[in-house]
Amino acid sequence: MKRKLFVATHNAHKVVEIAAILPDWEIVSDDPVGVEENAPDFVGNARIKVRAIAARHRGDWCLADDSGLEVAALGGAPGVRSARYAGEPSNTPANNALLLKNLAGVADRRANFTCAIALVAPDGTEHAVEGKCFGTIAEAPSGAAGFGYDPLFVPDGFTASFAALTAAEKNAISHRGRALAAAKAILG
Ligand code: IMP
Repeated sequence: MKRKLFVATHNAHKVVEIAAILPDWEIVSDDPVGVEENAPDFVGNARIKVRAIAARHRGDWCLADDSGLEVAALGGAPGVRSARYAGEPSNTPANNALLLKNLAGVADRRANFTCAIALVAPDGTEHAVEGKCFGTIAEAPSGAAGFGYDPLFVPDGFTASFAALTAAEKNAISHRGRALAAAKAILG
């Protein structure tokens, strides 16, 4: 029987990505509703979320991730505000349109995704790992898969955006794939 891993998210895309990378675990999502993600960095927000659900699942492994896009020419924005870059509520087309607007005429289009993962072990011990994926922001969206900023992010070494890759191709190089690989080593 697979061991349960409680994951602090309501994002179905993430559950699928996590399940693909951790096939030996039964991924159970538990949305930390009402928890304020007010840390200044990704790892701080991941810790806030995992602690919220770990309080409900003592004796089991819990995981939370927090991720976002950092654009060099924008001083690291949208950063921890990636989901709500264009304002509340979270609106992906508006976020992507604002990103393109803010980069209009900007030659330096370097960017990276960062994913922080916080874990709470069955004995309450906390762990944190991080993964990054570097690339550039395209002039226009392309591709139909994925979510968020995927259609605008072209990973280094590729000519197509994240949204043009298969899930397996994205997982192999993505910030979340890399952070999950590090988390997998901790989960054993
Ligand atoms: P979260 O805090 O991990 O849910 O991510 C915050 C936001 O970052 C998402 O709403 C997306 O806008 C963006 N983001 C994080 N990971 C990805 C990704 O793999 N592709 C595209 N956008 C992402």
